[in-house]
Amino acid sequence: MSQVSPFSSAAPVLVPMPAERPYTYAVPPGMHVVPGSIVRVPLGPRQVAGVVWDGEAGQVDARKLRPIEQVFDCPPVSHDMRRFVDWVSQYTLSPPGMVARMLLRAPEAFDPEPWTEGITLTDVRPERMTGARERVLETAADGFAWTRSGLAHAAGVSSSVIDGLREQGVFETVMIPPRPVVPEPDTTYAAAELMPDQRMAADELKAGVEAGGFRVTLLDGVTGSGKTEVYFEAVAEAIEKGQQVLILLPEIALTHAFLERFQNRFGAKPAEWHSDLPPRMRERVWRQVAEGTLKVVAGARSALFLPFQDLGLIVVDEEHDPAYKQEDRVFYNARDMAVVRAHIGGFPVVLASATPSVESRVNAMQGRYGRVILSSRFADAALPDLRTIDMRRAPPARGGFLSPLLLQRMAATLEQGEQSLLFLNRRGYAPLTLCRSCGHRFGCPVCSSWLVEHRFRGQLICHHCGHTERRPDACPECGTVDHLVACGPGVERIAEEVVSHFPEARTIVLSSDILGGVRRLRLELEAIANGDADIVIGTQLVAKGHNFPNMTLVGVVDADLGLANGDPRAAERTYQLLSQVTGRAGRTGKKSLGLLQTYQPDHPVMQAIVSGDSELFYEREIGERERTRLPPFGRLAGVIVSAPTRAEAEGHARALRLAAPETADIFVLGPAEAPLALLNGRHRFRLLVHGERRADMQGFVRAMLAAGPKVRGQIRVQVDIDPQSF
Ligand code: ADP
Ligand code: ZN
Repeated sequence: MSQVSPFSSAAPVLVPMPAERPYTYAVPPGMHVVPGSIVRVPLGPRQVAGVVWDGEAGQVDARKLRPIEQVFDCPPVSHDMRRFVDWVSQYTLSPPGMVARMLLRAPEAFDPEPWTEGITLTDVRPERMTGARERVLETAADGFAWTRSGLAHAAGVSSSVIDGLREQGVFETVMIPPRPVVPEPDTTYAAAELMPDQRMAADELKAGVEAGGFRVTLLDGVTGSGKTEVYFEAVAEAIEKGQQVLILLPEIALTHAFLERFQNRFGAKPAEWHSDLPPRMRERVWRQVAEGTLKVVAGARSALFLPFQDLGLIVVDEEHDPAYKQEDRVFYNARDMAVVRAHIGGFPVVLASATPSVESRVNAMQGRYGRVILSSRFADAALPDLRTIDMRRAPPARGGFLSPLLLQRMAATLEQGEQSLLFLNRRGYAPLTLCRSCGHRFGCPVCSSWLVEHRFRGQLICHHCGHTERRPDACPECGTVDHLVACGPGVERIAEEVVSHFPEARTIVLSSDILGGVRRLRLELEAIANGDADIVIGTQLVAKGHNFPNMTLVGVVDADLGLANGDPRAAERTYQLLSQVTGRAGRTGKKSLGLLQTYQPDHPVMQAIVSGDSELFYEREIGERERTRLPPFGRLAGVIVSAPTRAEAEGHARALRLAAPETADIFVLGPAEAPLALLNGRHRFRLLVHGERRADMQGFVRAMLAAGPKVRGQIRVQVDIDPQSF
């Protein structure tokens, strides 16, 4: 035989690592790959999964290339999805390989799930009947395929009974395909009777799905107005068209209640997708989404990178929520990327919120997005009566944090057998511990932050890096014993105060660091909804989306908390959080009240909340953004430089700034210390790039990074397009 080149051609393959472009691999003869094929390739000493990408393979002598080892038996990643990965990569300035990495996060799913061996009844009857055999025949009479052990278990017999019947030919062997993760949703299962305004909103969203094509609709409705019921109608429409649907939710703790609501409407739960999902389940969901058999996924932001075959609708619930921003490796906002995904796929996206982001409101105002409004709560539920408590006039008792007015209302609520919620967005017992003798403050050794006391655990914890130490009795500076004091409240401390006033009440503290994790959290949330608690003290975790029917009083312990940090987005965030948390009250017909403890009752945010005039708030806020050319009237990008020493980080950031191109429409501010100047032992400096609305921010930042000093040693540079805080 003559010697032929071992490889017939080559293909570009994107591998899950910080590669700026696909690598070229040889395709062995007889192997068939297409763009989107998931393949196993050698990478250095390892083997990794990669995706065959679009475009020409690099011009390399095929004989020098390493070969693709294997093509997985898996549907190829769709063209839309590949374009999406490229788009996200270019927008966020992350290497495409790092974006592809998010797509390839279920390695075991690339091989099809094996079929299992099962048995099913034949026409042959057993030679001799026994009681056990009869039970088996009865159980298997439905004609379905059973696994041997499954049938034995269901019939309550030992497996040997089944084996005996099998030997006689009563059963034959069949192969059973993998079971779907969830049953198909049934769009006619329990369609809601919508109120007239809900009907109109639902019809508009439905029409968009029916017509297909890209469009963004802001579903803007007060808490409890039935936004979920309304967008479920759009979901139903997409399912009826045979398309897949993605519903994004900001918080895992929310998913559980959501899954149940979905089940009540569609007779089956949607598949879940988030980081807490067991690996086996992740693989099955990934696989079935890729195969197109799984119709509806409800998930966290990373669900955007699932390999949908035929996506027909994305819903982003609580679209304003900061949890949609990922600030790790690839910095992206899932709300914005959902809009991009819909644009690429040519289908509608619904952004739902009671307190939309300023960005979305402006997009609606300027006609880029449609807007559907639900202005009243469903049925007889009324929004709570909202008032401020001026803490300058009605201060709490010495050592306490709850004003007499709030305590009074709590007592009355308790007496009526109803529930109260106290909201404080601060975990632990106290945000700062200091020594009364020498003034020593307990800070984190590797971050620029104070250690938060967690009294239940007897620990001081850094909320940024997790550094934990035991709370000592003596001051480490001056040695004085028992002179340490806790400054300021966290939820644990508020709980202590509540218990001292209402020792007989059932009190629950809820925060994300609850012992027992997500499972325990779900149980507690259920317990509250069932009325098994009188007073709930919680962080923002309880502020979102939950329905607590018997909750009639919400007290915000420190309404000013979020306003203190000087961030131009602080007003918007505080407004959203306070609206959301006070929206927990009055979910049923009962009269309800929201009280905000504040030292600045005249602040526009407090005024907007109390008056219920959201239009006024947005108008003001939008005007302010326009005046200062902040997003969405201008554009921002953060460039964060970190290094083990302050000098290195600052030096590199300065050099970068000097390397910035000269343009008329983009300016660089800084370098200044980043919001957390020391994090995990790394010093951080930030350049803030501020541009006109149409400025080419990506081009500018790319040019600056290319012209700047080489990133070497321990220095790290992270780009954050559209930063959350600015
Ligand atoms: P939102 O998401 O706007 O806060 P929800 O969709 O959670 O509002 O609805 C609030 C409550 O009202 C839920 O308990 C929901 O089941 C109920 N609800 C809303 N609309 C209807 C309807 N048309 N029929 C029955 N229940 C409804
Ligand atoms: Zn720390």
